[in-house]
Amino acid sequence: MEGNVEQHGSETLRTLPGDDVRQIMWRLTDRYDLQMLVQSARAVARGPVARLVAEGGRNSHEWTEQKAQLLRAFDESGITAANMDPAQGGFIEGPKNFTLALVAFELSWVDAGAATCSLAGNLALAPIHERGTPEQRDAYMRRAVPPQPGEDRQVWRGAFSLTEPLPYVGVETSLLGGKVRIVEWEEGKEPILQVEKRGRFITNMGFANFVTAAVDSADDRIKGSCIVILEQTDPGLFDRGTPARKLVHQLSSTRDPVFSLRVPAGRIVGGYTVKDGVIVPRYSHSDIIEAVFRRTRVTVGLMTSAKLLSAVEPVIRYQRGRFRGGETIAPGSPRYELGLQQKEDALHRLVDVWATGEAGASLGFAAARLFDELDPLERRKDEAFAAQGIGNGTAQLRPLRRAQKDTLEFLAQAALPEAQRDGVRYEALQADPLVQFSALDALANVLCPAVKLWNTGHGATMMREAVSLMGGYGIMEDCPGFLGQKWMDAQLEATYEGPEAVQRRQLTVTMTSELFLAQFEGWIAEMREVAARRPGTGACALATAMRLWLWSLDHLQKACDAEGGKLFHGNRQGVTFPLADALCWLLASRYQIMDLLELERKGPENPVLAEGLPGLLAFFTDLCHVQAGRAAGEVGRICAELVYGYNRHPAWDGGAGCGPDASDPLAGFGADASASTMPVGPKAGPCVCFDGLEPFACLRLKLDGCLTGVRLAKDRAATALTKVMIPEALDYPV
Ligand SMILES: Cc1cc2nc3c(=O)[nH]c(=O)nc-3n(C[C@H](O)[C@H](O)[C@H](O)COP(=O)(O)OP(=O)(O)OC[C@H]3O[C@@H](n4cnc5c(N)ncnc54)[C@H](O)[C@@H]3O)c2cc1C
Repeated sequence: MEGNVEQHGSETLRTLPGDDVRQIMWRLTDRYDLQMLVQSARAVARGPVARLVAEGGRNSHEWTEQKAQLLRAFDESGITAANMDPAQGGFIEGPKNFTLALVAFELSWVDAGAATCSLAGNLALAPIHERGTPEQRDAYMRRAVPPQPGEDRQVWRGAFSLTEPLPYVGVETSLLGGKVRIVEWEEGKEPILQVEKRGRFITNMGFANFVTAAVDSADDRIKGSCIVILEQTDPGLFDRGTPARKLVHQLSSTRDPVFSLRVPAGRIVGGYTVKDGVIVPRYSHSDIIEAVFRRTRVTVGLMTSAKLLSAVEPVIRYQRGRFRGGETIAPGSPRYELGLQQKEDALHRLVDVWATGEAGASLGFAAARLFDELDPLERRKDEAFAAQGIGNGTAQLRPLRRAQKDTLEFLAQAALPEAQRDGVRYEALQADPLVQFSALDALANVLCPAVKLWNTGHGATMMREAVSLMGGYGIMEDCPGFLGQKWMDAQLEATYEGPEAVQRRQLTVTMTSELFLAQFEGWIAEMREVAARRPGTGACALATAMRLWLWSLDHLQKACDAEGGKLFHGNRQGVTFPLADALCWLLASRYQIMDLLELERKGPENPVLAEGLPGLLAFFTDLCHVQAGRAAGEVGRICAELVYGYNRHPAWDGGAGCGPDASDPLAGFGADASASTMPVGPKAGPCVCFDGLEPFACLRLKLDGCLTGVRLAKDRAATALTKVMIPEALDYPV
């Protein structure tokens, strides 16, 4: 190990956080099965995957024999079967969102292409898993399980084919060029379908045995769109197409396939009914992709966070060793011991990279766990509706709207101290699956796009920072930690399964849901309470930034621009998209703080951690503070631009100006900027720019004040980076 744990009055970080720490923060201390799986995935990532990258396996678009070996490594390590239920040949009971997120995190720590290769198989199965008939689910999930000892069969690998050549499906998933029609329908027999589908950028296409493909009806006897399962041996054309000339994720296979196949109608995912001689698929392609992506996108977001956290150790090692060996650099001298870590900027930037990785991981894993909670509730809700003769999709909208009132009541009760609750009513609402589903669903609808958007989008930007800290080495193929490749790869994570615009569009709708906002309101109170108890966490700045965002949302929903145009509107992406971005900063910071609190609560129970825990907590507290400060700054900037930016200044129309710089723009404000609640209006004449916006100006002022100490936290975190012990060498490639 190298480093120096010399103490300066207060405890500091001793070693990089290991599994004991992560298991507490990410809530898998009680999941021995997942802990084992993490170890297996790590062995694959830092073994065969890392070796393949180091040997130049990424230098070809082709699906090579060496890359194919990875599939076998996934099979042998349990990664492939982790997606299946025990009844299908898997080994993990219950929902698998968190499981798959952990696997993706481990693989992406080394190479996200390898992670994608594994995940794309799950993505192909996801339509069948989420919306397939029980028979479809059993058949395809079982085939995708690697053979057990004594079994002699091939593992089925899948691809998911939605995106089509231009000008068809991309961001706009309704522009389907793929078509399905009936070619044979004998009396009393199953109809035979002809499927024509071309794919663009389809992952796993170099070796997939089956494909779940989105198609639209080209036949009056088929209603709407659907997803069909295509098999390699179906009669017709199953052309894998040419390899995509990717610059990223080269350990996965991506091609532009062409299919022209005859398949039985039983391959329509979720099945169908026949009404008046027309095949009516149970689910449209959009019903299914919504159910699929809302889960799988969380996993993609975590891939980028894994890279940021993986960058910390190589960067520290590079910084420390930068000048060693130079003739005039004596061992023991600051230049020898600290190298680039003598420079504040190099340390501060690494603190930012680390804090971003922490926040993204906390947000992503929280979302994955939430989906694990949501899955059984969703099934219970569907069963309850089915028992009442209520089908899926739009049929459920009305009863769900009715449940909203109860859910809001539940959330209001939950926000009260226990003693003030109506115990009987609260318990009744807590036991109502519809209420529980509605509350979690509203949250999931926000968290999923937020993870995908913030972790990958901002994550890619921060990955560039990590690369820059390695100087020229950062953009070399043999950069320790493969940071250059990870930077490029992050851009793909921001793009596939829906680029940032898709996530922002979704957030525009879901972040205004009453059920989400009720929970958000509760979080502000929660952060105020944390701020009082644990002031160094940045919770105070975060609570104020949350209030500012909420005020801005409310204001922008009602306000018009200088021309009288409505501001908060689906087509006004210049307003709605930045507000969505701002929310993501808040969410990431909140979940980071929640994980810190969990570590603080549970850490002392773990004897392995006991010794280093105070230093670790101090460091993580500072990271939370740094991140909360950055989030507050972003939110303040975005909201200020939106709230003021669509007004005309009175001076442009001959009115009063702002006055000289020295004048007090807030003179006469009656608001109490230190209050935790919404400030009241002005008493007398502040700057004309604030007309009607005084509460915002007060909140903004308060927010700036809440940044007190944030740079001290950064300085402390930076110092900790100079002292933390790291292993002599990176543990991959080995
Ligand atoms: C390596 C790789 C692997 C992939 N794997 C798969 C796979 O396995 N299966 C599959 O089906 N697809 C796959 N894809 C496709 C991927 O999901 C799409 O590329 C992605 O969804 C974006 O679609 P597009 O490229 O057509 O972008 P476009 O639709 O052309 O959008 C381009 C950009 O225009 C802007 N834009 C577009 N529409 C809007 C809007 N409504 N509002 C605001 N801005 C907008 C956004 O900035 C957007 O990023 C893969 C792609 C790559 C590169």
